[in-house]
Amino acid sequence: MSPIRLLVLAVLFYIAWRLLRGLGKDSNPVCRTGKQGESKVQDVLVEDPVCHTLVPKHQALQLRRRGVTYYFCCEKCLRAFERNSDRKPSHG
Ligand SMILES: [Zn+2]
Repeated sequence: MSPIRLLVLAVLFYIAWRLLRGLGKDSNPVCRTGKQGESKVQDVLVEDPVCHTLVPKHQALQLRRRGVTYYFCCEKCLRAFERNSDRKPSHG
């Protein structure tokens, strides 16, 4: 058997393996914040007032302040907003 034939076989096996793997797609936990790509889910995008990232409403963190609801991409932004918007005077 020539080495080229072996190579062709190997490539064929690789392609078959890739196809099989492609069939059983599993959802991998990848954070998809930031880029506004094409999403299957038609959701309302809300803007994070801290980092100005657009986040789907259902996965955004909510904070109510004086009757206004704010949305955040992550807890870090929420905390930062809380700190900035509501500076409590210290007891002294
Ligand atoms: Zn943010």
